[in-house]
Amino acid sequence: MDIYWLWMQDHILSMVAVVITIVLIYHYLIEKDTGVKLSKRYRSSIFEAQSKIFLNATQYLISGNKDLAIREFLNAVDINRETIETYFALGGLFRSNGEIEKAISIHRSLIARENISESTRLRALRELAIDFDKGGFVDKAIETYKDVLKINRDQYEVILALCRIYEDIEDWDEAYNYRIMLSKVGHVNQAETISHILVEKAKKYFLKGDFAKCDEDLEDALRFAPSVSAKILRLKLIIIKGDMDGARFNLLELLKEHPLYASFIFLALGEIGKTWNDLDKTNYLQRLEVLRGFFLGLEDKELLESPSMVLSQVRMLKEGGKFENAHEILKAWIYEHKNPSEVLKIEYIKLLIQLKKTDEVVSQVMGFLENIHKSLSRHYCKSCGYESDDIFWRCPQCHEWETISFRWKM
Ligand SMILES: [Zn+2]
Repeated sequence: MDIYWLWMQDHILSMVAVVITIVLIYHYLIEKDTGVKLSKRYRSSIFEAQSKIFLNATQYLISGNKDLAIREFLNAVDINRETIETYFALGGLFRSNGEIEKAISIHRSLIARENISESTRLRALRELAIDFDKGGFVDKAIETYKDVLKINRDQYEVILALCRIYEDIEDWDEAYNYRIMLSKVGHVNQAETISHILVEKAKKYFLKGDFAKCDEDLEDALRFAPSVSAKILRLKLIIIKGDMDGARFNLLELLKEHPLYASFIFLALGEIGKTWNDLDKTNYLQRLEVLRGFFLGLEDKELLESPSMVLSQVRMLKEGGKFENAHEILKAWIYEHKNPSEVLKIEYIKLLIQLKKTDEVVSQVMGFLENIHKSLSRHYCKSCGYESDDIFWRCPQCHEWETISFRWKM
């Protein structure tokens, strides 16, 4: 029975493939006879490409194993016998199957046709650009997307694709231009993203040591949206200028606004240009050290309520080898707060081990494990994730049988 069914499947598939080929060849011949004038740009090897496509398509359909995709595609052909749609469907199928070259040939041949509407040609050009894009031909993708925009500027998806490409290759000038264009076409506010792009641009200047240009782009960025990354870069420029009062003030503002980013802020402050001259380097690092001292000495009660503030203080102290100080701060914090996060508890246990406070390690670890144990169920459903300590042979949530599993991982 199985063998019979398989034979049928192959048979039907081949039959339909042959029918499609005949339809395609029919259209191909008609076109050839009418002596189509090809557009200048895609004149070369169009007919050669077309005949290749017919062969490839047939081969693909007969030997391909993407049964479902093909069957769906064939259904579509039955309903709508327009060849143009057949081409688009085939092109899309090839592209999604990773056969970019074949997709490119199909879309090129569509663009070259004289007897199609301008909107179809535009659609084909757009598809071609996506082929190049998916195939990793970045330059060609950019060129073709731009060709699409030359015909019709009002295309959100195309502009967005260009934005993505330019951001990928870190061409921030172009990324900025197209993001501006996008903000005019779409209804989504792009200010935040534009700010990020300008910050990236400014960062490049910063790392090169061109602080004046960095300042310029950064001012623009802040005008679009005061993103965290913009504010961190502004702080770095203030440190470069040697304005330590300003640096302290800006750091404090930044921490108050984004206490969760405390660790991250200092990580970002530590990034400096490799090609900076020695004077810039030494000055910057010395001033950063002063700022770190200021951060460790902070006594702002409200600010120190945030676990991430404490965590980054503790880590900074550990980096400097000051384990006793780190222990003191963390111990005080943990005793003052009822439910410290797991990360803080682990950090605390690590500190206790470092300081060889064995008795306290044992009691802390016991408490920690007890808590983890309480928060985890013994069993769970493999199919839907339902959790329970009971034994269930039929899952009460998804009603599958024997999906119960024992928990091995946290
Ligand atoms: Zn279930």
